[in-house]
Formats: sequence, C-alpha cells, structure tokens
Amino acid sequence: MKVRSSLLLAVTGVVVAVPLLTGCGGASSGVDKASRGIAVVSSFYPLQYVAQRVAGDHADVENLTQPGREPHDLELTVQQTKDIADSDVVLYEKGFQPDIDDAIEQNGPDHVVDAATAAHLTGDDPHFWLDPTRLAAVAGAFERDVADADPAHAAAYARNLASLRADLADLDRAYRRGLAHCGIATIVVSHDAFGYLGERYGLRVVGINGLSPDAEPSPAHIRQLQDLIGEDHITTVFSERLASREFAQSIAGDLGIRTAVLDPIEGLSDTTADQDYLSLMRSNLATLRTADRCA
Ligand SMILES: [Zn+2]
Repeated sequence: MKVRSSLLLAVTGVVVAVPLLTGCGGASSGVDKASRGIAVVSSFYPLQYVAQRVAGDHADVENLTQPGREPHDLELTVQQTKDIADSDVVLYEKGFQPDIDDAIEQNGPDHVVDAATAAHLTGDDPHFWLDPTRLAAVAGAFERDVADADPAHAAAYARNLASLRADLADLDRAYRRGLAHCGIATIVVSHDAFGYLGERYGLRVVGINGLSPDAEPSPAHIRQLQDLIGEDHITTVFSERLASREFAQSIAGDLGIRTAVLDPIEGLSDTTADQDYLSLMRSNLATLRTADRCA
C-alpha cells in the first residue's frame, strides 16, 4: 500500500477501490495501491483544501508541504518527486516553490494545474489564497482538469465545485461587510502575505519582513514602521504561527501596543490541526475587525 500522508489517511480513511486509469498514462502499478480513485498531488495547504473539497471521495490527495512547515522553503524528497510523476493531476503554484517547478518540468503528469495562472496573479506576490475570489478561480481550473482526468465522476466534481464556490462567496461577503467601516485602514503584518486580501477589501498592508517569512527587516525599515504605527494610530502588530515572531514582538513592545496572530494560511500546525481554510479565514476576519476598530 502506498501511504501518501498520515494526515490524509486520518482525514479520509482507507477505502480500497479500483483506480480509474483513463488515458492518464497509468498512474500506478495497481497491485500495491490501496486507493479511493485518481492520484492528486497538491503543493501546499490552501491548494490541498481545494483539491480535497473538489475531488472529494474520488481521489487520494497527497500534500507535498507537511503540516507545521511553511511552504516557502520546501525541499522535495525523492519519493515526492516520484509521486508527482506518478500522479494523475498536480495542483501547484508556479514560481512559489522552485523544487516543485523543477520536478514538474522534468517529469510531470498530463494534468498540471498552475494556480498562479488561474488566480491571475499581479506581480510577484504568491499569496493569492487570502482573497477567496482568487481561490475560487483556482478551484474552477482544478475541477476542469480533474473531470478531464476522471470523466466517470465529472458530475460529482461539478457538484463539489459548486458547494466550495458557495462557501467562498459567503466568506467574501463576510469580509466585505466586516471590513467596510473601520477606524483604521492600515495593517502591519509579519511577512508580506496579505497584499491580495488588502487589495480586495481596501486595507493598506505593510510588511515587517518581505514576501518571504525569513527575510530580515533593515533598521531603516523598522523606523519607518514605527512612524507609520504612530501616525495611523495602529493598535496591533500581527505575527503568525509558522514563522518567527521576534520582530513583531519587539516593534509592538517598543511602542506599547498589542500583537495578535493573523494566519497567512500557508499550512496547518499543531494548534490549527482541527481548523480549515474557511475557519482560519473567519478567525482572521474577527482579529482584523478588533484591531482596526471596525463597526
Ligand atoms: Zn508567504
């Protein structure tokens, strides 16, 4: 049996089914594979969430970034590189995790869905999933490829997509309403993951680090942040779970203001293992409304 990930097994259980090998190059030997259906590989958590919601009971979804790890610095194992080659559909984000780009370029399956294209990225910010409307666009692109790889279950995939789209539309409405009337329109975040969220909901987003969590801010940048926090009467500096809180805490401590966790939802961790994309987005919204004094 091919154990794809312990988290996946915990979520889906193991049901033996005959894999459907319809024109996708024969994804596995078939003999040693206990499978629910087609083999889907996703590159990191928000894409795993989309893959599991859309492919549902008809696929094994292997997520390449393990829980508790942040995806920016992913290094693929030999087995994972093989799993990409052996899969039926890969859902990844080109330009975000170079190891995965290389593996797909060298030996990817027939169905490769690039979230960067589907989400219509602007510039080099990869964090599109914090705008639910962009994640919905990615889900639509993924559904087309999954239905093409496994046409026998196309009706189920279409239904699952409609259900996910409805949830994402609800989430988008909650954000638009929840952030419509706020006393403060600027947020200071740890790594610069919230640009698309800010763009959609009218927040100015200032990052302490750069687009990657392990970049370090210069002293000049920290002074600018301190000035901005004073001018805009900012109440809270946001940190996150999977990256260092050092700079957020020291800036907030110096100025005597609060820190709070705003989750960039790049992956689940021990403390968020029972959460999902939707619940983390909802708790981010509540945190933002408090910090920005929203009515
Ligand atoms: Zn990031």
